[in-house]
Amino acid sequence: MDFLKRAWAEVNLDSIEYNLKEYRKLIGEKTDIMCVVKASCYGHFDNAVVPFLQNEMNVRWFAVSNIHEAHRLRDMGITGEILILGYTPPENAPYLTKLDIIQACTELSYAKELSKHADGKVRIHAAIDTGMTRIGLHGDNEKIYGELKEISTLENIALEGIFTHFAVADSLDADDELYTKAQAEKIIAVADICEKNGLALEKVHFLNSAGGVYYYSERSALARLGIILYGLYPDPAKALPFKPKPAMEFKAAVAQVKYIDEGTNVSYGRTYTAPKKVKLATITAGYADGYPRALSNKGQVIIKGKRCKITGRICMDQFMCDVSDIEDIKPGDEAILIGSQGNETITADDIGALAGTIGYEIVCGISARVPRVILRHGEQTAVLEIE
Ligand SMILES: *Cc1c(COP(=O)(O)O)cnc(C)c1O
Repeated sequence: MDFLKRAWAEVNLDSIEYNLKEYRKLIGEKTDIMCVVKASCYGHFDNAVVPFLQNEMNVRWFAVSNIHEAHRLRDMGITGEILILGYTPPENAPYLTKLDIIQACTELSYAKELSKHADGKVRIHAAIDTGMTRIGLHGDNEKIYGELKEISTLENIALEGIFTHFAVADSLDADDELYTKAQAEKIIAVADICEKNGLALEKVHFLNSAGGVYYYSERSALARLGIILYGLYPDPAKALPFKPKPAMEFKAAVAQVKYIDEGTNVSYGRTYTAPKKVKLATITAGYADGYPRALSNKGQVIIKGKRCKITGRICMDQFMCDVSDIEDIKPGDEAILIGSQGNETITADDIGALAGTIGYEIVCGISARVPRVILRHGEQTAVLEIE
């Protein structure tokens, strides 16, 4: 399996296995894991990762953001449960039943619309808004219960569960800690009212990656595991009980190496001027590959185990860096944009911090033209391009 060694991402399934197993150990047996595989597994490519999770890791629950992603999963032979976390236009209700997908329900009127358009029972988990203020039934608990009860009587609706989403489960702040606890208490209170009144719910769930670590409760039947599965931190400032292994490395090639004289300008906008004679390398990745332009004059890459500073603006497909400290560098050599070599590591979280964002956005943003090279048991098993 050959691929163009220009800009590529290596996705290591061994790391995903490690992260999943460590997380399972941490939360124990009472809560099942729902792997969050939206946005093509946070940029890691669903067509390699999801079949692996089902067939080798025995994962039975998956969450996606929309019906296209759900459809892709069914097409690749995923037979486990799939929950769509976001909105599906009610006209698409027949697809939900045809594909046997569980839909998040945003509010009572939406459930009515779904029921109207459906040609069979649409399975739903009702979102409960406990403080994220994004989607879900909201208001006091009795009102929410009343709406759930009404939803449960709709002709073409099967109300199978309720869930909520934490807003600050990864925060170190004491006030945020109280906020998260209140979110959990609210959905548990709603679940209790349902139970008391005989409204059966198969699944009540409220834990995300961070929630499962810092606010574990066996009242959550599922933990919706996203970022930690891929080896990143919900918040890099907050420690985890185990060290997740980043599953993705992002690499590119050295295209040209040359010496430039003191005073030479580099790249668009002339934002870098060589302070002395500098050895400069041109690297074959840019913002069109998902390497943020915000890293201009700020970022670093690893070449031959050493950190090299980016000089000047990141272009669409290329950027330059100072390789004065590297002796035998030549075109075709490998540059690590995200990953480890020797004693040096650059994580997606590091890039996110430099670019003023989070690691999540960096891995999701590695673009479609970057092939994903899949590794398992240390060997290359596939090279995937986004369809
Ligand atoms: C994305 C998402 C998750 C996963 O969050 P992580 O922080 O990546 O674990 C869980 N639940 C919902 C509703 C989400 O939208």
